[in-house]
Amino acid sequence: MSIAENIKQVLSELPDGVRLVAVSKFHPNEAIEEAYSAGQRVFGESKVQEMTAKYESLPKDIEWHFIGHLQTNKIKYIVPYVTLIHGVDSYKLLTEINRQAAKAGRTVNCLLQLHIAQEETKFGFSFDECREMLAGDEWKKLGNVRICGLMGMATNTDNIEQIKAEFRSLNNFFQEAKATWFSNAEWFRELSMGMSHDYHEAIAAGSTLVRVGSKIFGERIY
Ligand SMILES: *Cc1c(COP(=O)(O)O)cnc(C)c1O
Repeated sequence: MSIAENIKQVLSELPDGVRLVAVSKFHPNEAIEEAYSAGQRVFGESKVQEMTAKYESLPKDIEWHFIGHLQTNKIKYIVPYVTLIHGVDSYKLLTEINRQAAKAGRTVNCLLQLHIAQEETKFGFSFDECREMLAGDEWKKLGNVRICGLMGMATNTDNIEQIKAEFRSLNNFFQEAKATWFSNAEWFRELSMGMSHDYHEAIAAGSTLVRVGSKIFGERIY
């Protein structure tokens, strides 16, 4: 199947209220152009240099979502144009994004990344760390970042029940956070979860943004 056909297939499976982030990391501009011709406008990348090069050479109505682990010294390169940073996994990173966003005269949309998987290697706040941060008042003074929701990655396993339980735990925390700290923030509404192998489970558990790469673009060559 072509990239255009894969996009149509995935889109046909998304209920109302769930958007597709087409994860184009490690794929060339030509692949993105094919998806763009099929109507896709939201793309996800995980490397700062790669995303910036693509931003500079591709149509300006593309929404670029940064989904990787962001190093503080590279924030400045994406802040001028990024639409959403999915993986904010520390208060320090949030304050640095805020600082660079203020310099650029922007308000940058962010998602807090929660660690919901069993693996040690995945980044993110624990639920308690995130509660502790949100319960403090410091983050509310950061006027150039807007916390639009949460992001998480399930364990890479064949155990569907485990994946579902991890996604449900993130949705539970999302509801708690919304009720406790964001009840008047209509922008706090995104739950970014689900990749090629688990987006159906993520949607069933309340995802609003699925990040699908290899199912659309084929396997990545590293
Ligand atoms: C690479 C990546 C994806 C997409 O993974 P696929 O399995 O190719 O769909 C989604 N989210 C994050 C954070 C990623 O790094």
